[in-house]
Amino acid sequence: MRLQSINPTTGELIEEFEPASDRAIELALETATHAFSTHRRSSFDNRSLRMHALAQQLETDSDRWGRLLTDEMGKTLGQAIAEVEKCAWVCRHYADNAASMLADEKLSSDAQHSAVIHRPLGPLLAVMPWNFPFWQVFRAAVPAIMAGNVVLLKHASNVPKTALALQAMFESAGFESGIFQTLLIGPEPVERVLADARVVAATVTGSIKAGASVSSIAGKYAKKTVLELGGSDPYIVMPSADLEQALETAVTARMINNGQSCIAAKRFIVHADVYRPFVDGFVGRFEALKVGDPIDAATDMGPMAMDRLRSRLQKQVQTLLDRGAERLTGAKPVDGPGYFYKPGILCGIAADAPPFDDELFGPVAWLLRVDSFDEAVELANQTQYGLGSSLWTQDPAEIDTGLREINAGATFVNSMVKSDPRLPFGGIGQSGYGRELARDGILEFVNRKTVVIA
Ligand code: NAP
Repeated sequence: MRLQSINPTTGELIEEFEPASDRAIELALETATHAFSTHRRSSFDNRSLRMHALAQQLETDSDRWGRLLTDEMGKTLGQAIAEVEKCAWVCRHYADNAASMLADEKLSSDAQHSAVIHRPLGPLLAVMPWNFPFWQVFRAAVPAIMAGNVVLLKHASNVPKTALALQAMFESAGFESGIFQTLLIGPEPVERVLADARVVAATVTGSIKAGASVSSIAGKYAKKTVLELGGSDPYIVMPSADLEQALETAVTARMINNGQSCIAAKRFIVHADVYRPFVDGFVGRFEALKVGDPIDAATDMGPMAMDRLRSRLQKQVQTLLDRGAERLTGAKPVDGPGYFYKPGILCGIAADAPPFDDELFGPVAWLLRVDSFDEAVELANQTQYGLGSSLWTQDPAEIDTGLREINAGATFVNSMVKSDPRLPFGGIGQSGYGRELARDGILEFVNRKTVVIA
C-alpha cells in the first residue's frame, strides 16, 4: 500500500509514496552495517561536532520544519516550531554530555583493574509515531547515535515527508550515509527487518498493540526492546492547590498537540471541596478555545491527525455517554472539511465503567470527583497504564504519599508532565518499559561491558 501524506486541516492528499521494496530494505541493512563499522570507532568529539551541526540546522530552519509537521499532522504551527527547537536541545544535550555519561566506571575487585565500559550495539530499528514526528525520533535516535549505534527509522505511515526529511537532515549535518536511515514501510515488513541478524534491537513509541507486536517479534529472535506506549495520566487536584494555576495548566495539559499526547492529562480527579469551581473554570476555558487553521497564530487547537483517530475518539465518547456519562461541553466532531473535533469534557462516569482502561487520545477530558486524597490515589492507580501523573496540592503529607504511591513512570507536583532531555522518561505497566532521555536513555542501547585485568 502506498504511504499517503494527507493534510488533516483540509483532508487533501499532499503526496504519496511507494513503500520500500525488498531490495531497498536489503540495501538499507547493508548500508547500516557498513556505517556501523566505522561510526562505532568515531570519537565523541567527532560525533558531538555533527550533533551540534544538526542542532544548528534545526534552529535555523525551525519555521520550515515546523510547517512540514503542521501540514502532515495538524499541530499548531507555534507548537510545531517549539517541537523542532526542543529537538535541537536534545541534540546539544547529548553532544555535550554523552562522553561523560558513557565514561568508564572503575570498580574494585581482587583484580588489578576492573571496570564497566560502554560499547555500542549496532543497527537499531526505531518504530515511531506521528504525534511528535520530530521529537519522538530525535529523543530515540540522538542518544543511540552518540553512543555509536546506527538507526533505521520506520516512521508512522501518515508522515512520510517528515520521515524523508529526517534522513536528509542527519546527512546534511555530516552523518555519513547509513548512520540514520528512513525505511518507508508500513507495519508488515517490520518482522523481516527485525528478524535480520544485522539489526540488534528495537525501540517502539506507539500503541500497546504496536509495542506488543514488535516486542514479540524481538522476543522470538532474542533481541532487546524499549517500549514507550500509551497513557491515561491522572491529574489530581486537592483543596489546598492553587486553583487558578491548576485550571490554567489543566487545559494545556489536556489540549497540547491537539489533545494527542501520550503524557497528556486524561483523567482529572478533583476533590469535592473544589469540584464546583474547578468544573466552572474548566468548562469556561474549554469553550474559549479557538479551534481552526493550525497555521493561524490565534488558533489554540488544530485538527486531529487522521480521520480514523477522530472516529475512534467519537466511538469512545459515545460508549461513555451510553453508560451514563454527562457531557459538560463539546466532545463532538466539527462538520466540514478536515478532521476537527470540538474540545470536550465528560463527567459522571463510574470509575469502573469501560473503557476506563482506554486512552482518550484526543481533545476530551474525563472528570472524576473524589471525597478524599486516598480515594484520588486509588482512582489514579485504577488503570492498566502508568506513564505520567500530575498532583496539585500544597500539603506536604499528600505530596510525600503521592510521590510514593501513584503508580507511574513520573509524578509531577504542581506542574504538568513534560519530557526534558535531562530527566529520564518512560512508563510502567502497559505504558511500556525502559527509559529514554537523560543518562538512563543512552544506557538502554549500549553494552555495559565488564572488563577485568588480573
Ligand atoms: P500506532 O498505531 O501504534 O503507531 C505507532 C507506530 O507503530 C507507527 O510507526 C506504526 O506504523 C507502527 N505500528 C503499528 N502497528 C504495528 C505493528 N503491528 N507492527 C509494527 N509496527 C506497527 O500508534 P498511534 O495510535 O498512531 O500513536 C499513538 C499512540 O502512541 C498512543 O497510544 C500514544 O499514547 C502512544 N505514544 C506514546 C509515547 C510515549 O513516549 N510513551 C509517545 C507518543 C505516543 P504505521 O503508521 O505504518 O501503522
